[in-house]
Amino acid sequence: MTRPGSVASVVLNRPFGKALSYSIPEELQGQLAPGHLVEVPIGPRRDTGCVVALEDRSRVDPGIRLRPLRRRVADGYAITEEILRLTRWMADYYCCSWGEALAAASVIGFSDTCLPRRMLYRVAEGWRDVTLTPRQRTVAATLADSALGPLPMADLAAAVKTTTATLRRMQESGAVEEIPAELPAGPAPPPADEPPELLPDQRTALEAILPAVQKPEFAVYLLHGVTGSGKTEVYLRLIQEVMDHGGTALCLVPEIALTPQTVARFSSRFRQEIGVFHSQLSRREKRVLHEKIIRGHIRLVIGARSATFVPLPRLGLVVIDEEHESSYKQSDAPRYHARDVSIMRAKRLGVPVVLGSATPSFESMHNALSGKYRLLELRTRPAGLMLPPVRLVSMADVTKADPTRLTMLSPDLQSAIRERLERGEQSLLFLNRRGFSNFLLCPSCKWVARCDEDDIVLTIHRRSGRGRRVPDEPELFPGPLAAEDAFLKCHFCSRLYDYPAACPKCGETSLTPVGSGTQRIEEALRRVYPEADILRLDQDSAGGRQGFLKAWQRMVSGEAQIILGTQMIAKGLHLERVTLVGVVLADVGLFVPDFRAEERTFSLLMQVAGRTGRTNPGEVLVQTYMPHHAAVRMAAEHDYTGFYDMEMARRRRMAFPPWHRLVAVTLSDENLQRAEDAARRLSGILRRLGHKDRHAGIAVLGPRPAPIERIAGRCRQRLLLRAATTPAIVRLLRAALADPQWRLGSTTRLAIDVDPQDLL
Ligand code: ADP
Ligand code: ZN
Repeated sequence: MTRPGSVASVVLNRPFGKALSYSIPEELQGQLAPGHLVEVPIGPRRDTGCVVALEDRSRVDPGIRLRPLRRRVADGYAITEEILRLTRWMADYYCCSWGEALAAASVIGFSDTCLPRRMLYRVAEGWRDVTLTPRQRTVAATLADSALGPLPMADLAAAVKTTTATLRRMQESGAVEEIPAELPAGPAPPPADEPPELLPDQRTALEAILPAVQKPEFAVYLLHGVTGSGKTEVYLRLIQEVMDHGGTALCLVPEIALTPQTVARFSSRFRQEIGVFHSQLSRREKRVLHEKIIRGHIRLVIGARSATFVPLPRLGLVVIDEEHESSYKQSDAPRYHARDVSIMRAKRLGVPVVLGSATPSFESMHNALSGKYRLLELRTRPAGLMLPPVRLVSMADVTKADPTRLTMLSPDLQSAIRERLERGEQSLLFLNRRGFSNFLLCPSCKWVARCDEDDIVLTIHRRSGRGRRVPDEPELFPGPLAAEDAFLKCHFCSRLYDYPAACPKCGETSLTPVGSGTQRIEEALRRVYPEADILRLDQDSAGGRQGFLKAWQRMVSGEAQIILGTQMIAKGLHLERVTLVGVVLADVGLFVPDFRAEERTFSLLMQVAGRTGRTNPGEVLVQTYMPHHAAVRMAAEHDYTGFYDMEMARRRRMAFPPWHRLVAVTLSDENLQRAEDAARRLSGILRRLGHKDRHAGIAVLGPRPAPIERIAGRCRQRLLLRAATTPAIVRLLRAALADPQWRLGSTTRLAIDVDPQDLL
């Protein structure tokens, strides 16, 4: 705590900011500590930041006149010491500011909205013996008379004239006590579930990890098991062990897997309230959750990426399910990877981490095979269920057989769906492309509709409520759409455009929508199976978390007979009645200009295929124009190892991760020339410094235009830095940014992505 004359170091949520020093106003003397959020003046404005240190005034240059910080915000809330230190490391590693890292890590952000203070006041026993000022006496009498029991500050202030300072003095003199308010109760836990007898592989895995949990000690385990092989059961046993010994556990899952089903599975095992943490919680909900965690009411948190930082006291285990998921990497600053930050967090705490996946990321598998992580395999599915057989349907053959029909539903897929409808089972159809058609083409001059702001081809969407006006020939290529029935949308900036009546270049009026998205498949399905209950689930249909949960209910109840969706349905769903999985087009992501395109396609296909055959035998049909492509063929054969070996050899030849580490630097400006100049200048400095000994072995690639050359009107130039280790690259980058020759123009922006997952 502060002593008179001390100075607060405050960091703000701004790029490249250093900690700023502020003096502490008298009423806050002795009240502030590192981790508190405060409002500070900065230039002519105000901002909210986090106190990271308190220093003696004598240690600060006496020549500098300090401005006082204004006030504390989010009273009663503080970021823990542990998270302060973790974010310090993050800032170094991810080349962001400490403030950016802290703002991401703080459960309620740096919010300065006045959150309800969750403390109550009551008179202490023997308050009558304390000498009080007349005003204090009124306050004490009010509290003593209160029919409502202890009062929060707001109610008290409404009843008598008082301030927090007065109450603090009364607390110090022993007249008043502060007690935590009751927190709202969580939902009642579902009926208890009996743990099953473990399978031999599960037992082996559990016994391998248990000692690290019991000790505890830091170690990373990679649990590789096909979908439905019982990984979650292993997590549950480990968490049980931690909780039995008074510890707490954190389990990260992809946002989309945070269904009531997942949560119920955990809470029915432990029969206690579980913290569910995701980005759609309101700040108030987060604040309540934070308090329950800090007070030890909640000892298990399940959450998506941002849950990485929940300040669970006595954290004894971190589980990261579906560790290969790219959504664990944040795409805006700070561009951290939840898996890697969690591993660092566990390392500092000396506790184990369990990573689970059916298709481990190449980074993690590489670490496991090189002995950095420990590899544990679950080879069988419980109840003797086999992995579903996968049948590849060559779409080239389908089109050849009947060239008049450019259908996206092959005869094989159609009859497989019909069979399910007749048997009262569910079909799950997957297409990772939303909207109606992929782009709009002028057949005469080959013009393609593009976004004005981005270098992105626009997707065609059908207006809802319309588009029921159906051509007679059901699955026939629809030909021109009526302009009033459709609109164009940029999937990058969400900008909307009218559907043109004619080509703006040559005036051609019969424009062609090319390719199929989920909307179009939905229409085709409605025509082929007019009686069926069809549910489409993608970003356009989901309606936020509530909409998703509603749709999910229709799936679980079996009401929805055909479920069609994007990658929203590829993950975490456990639907017993799904006996058919159809991949409408496997090739969608294959030719994205990113070296991970094949890996992503492979693992997505494996994930989708895993949605069936979990409790009933199932079947998977994969439609593809490329049945011989390794990613498609090997996914159909469930051959992770074969694919890994092949793809890793290619990565080694091309010097890509995980053999090497990358840092992507993007310079963007509305003016192409300025973006190019900045990128060239920076690469020049990097190359010059890179020749010096201590930066040896770092390759500077580029600058080149980024694969998506323009986003939101800004031209993007890309530099890639490659070396054996990330910190070496970051050191060089920092040196370059501190070089006297480096200057960033006011209109140019610099984005640094350490260990990038997305190179577009
Ligand atoms: P994963 O997490 O690998 O996808 P789950 O843990 O969800 O797999 O297990 C798949 C199904 O098998 C679940 O319905 C689960 O209840 C069941 N299960 C898991 N372990 C066992 C076991 N040892 N005995 C019987 N059933 C099990
Ligand atoms: Zn756009």
